[in-house]
Amino acid sequence: MTTQPFSMQGKTGIVTGLANADSIAYGCARALHQAGAEMIVTYGHPKAESHVRPLVGEMGDPELMLCDVLDQSQVDALFQRADERWGKLDFLIHSMAFAPRDDLHGRVVDCSWDGFAQAMNISCHSFIRLARQAEPLMKEGGTLITLSYYGAEKVVDNYNLMGPVKAALESSVRYMAAELGPRGIRVHAISPGPIRTRAASGIQDFETLARDAETRSPLRRLTTVDDVGQCAVFLASGAGQSLTGSTLYVDAGHNIRA
Ligand code: NAD
Repeated sequence: MTTQPFSMQGKTGIVTGLANADSIAYGCARALHQAGAEMIVTYGHPKAESHVRPLVGEMGDPELMLCDVLDQSQVDALFQRADERWGKLDFLIHSMAFAPRDDLHGRVVDCSWDGFAQAMNISCHSFIRLARQAEPLMKEGGTLITLSYYGAEKVVDNYNLMGPVKAALESSVRYMAAELGPRGIRVHAISPGPIRTRAASGIQDFETLARDAETRSPLRRLTTVDDVGQCAVFLASGAGQSLTGSTLYVDAGHNIRA
């Protein structure tokens, strides 16, 4: 077990978006568990259950729940369960994104309204909805974290439709941070470098992005889900108490390159 420099002892929260052992959600849940947190971990589709169930040991045997953010009854059940178990929440990790393949693989100029709306709904507005339901449970403050990507800020080949969607997500983080800050609720986006996950496999020519990150990032390494998990722990722990509204790059420094 890795030694954690930051403590999450006594903290309780929700980690969403676990699909398999490659998921960023897995790195976050493992790191949060190692720091002492208790969690409910959610997966988005019933078919994922056989992949995620064997992973519970490394996450400290959290409760697993199915939570498709398009199904409000599942979202309600999630927050009801957190309320029953702990009566409070300290953190929530939103680690999910989706865009229909045809829209994702085409030009932004050509994307359909339905595809755009669906991508915004699952990848951006769901964070706002989850935050709204988490707020009353974050009685002593808390931390809300979502996942973004550099394609929000600059044009990255093949990131296409997800660029404007992640830009909206990062802007939402800033507005939510301003609105929830007076209640002690901090809001962040973590922006990792390319990681080989199922979601990433939907990006055309993803391997070129990964190779570029590995060979040109200042630290000459690919980001791992554990790197993202460590950052999530730092942000959610007391060490992050004076930070909010930021988009933090966890990308071996790749974002400083032209
Ligand atoms: P992943 O495929 O492991 O996770 C994506 C998750 O989104 C899956 O668990 C999936 O079930 C979930 N999801 C999709 N639709 C959903 C819905 N309707 N309801 C609930 N969940 C739903 O891939 P990942 O790379 O771990 O992705 C997690 C986040 O990290 C995403 O926001 C992604 O954009 C972001 N991100 C990934 C990378 C990368 O290179 N992998 C880089 C930067 C940011």
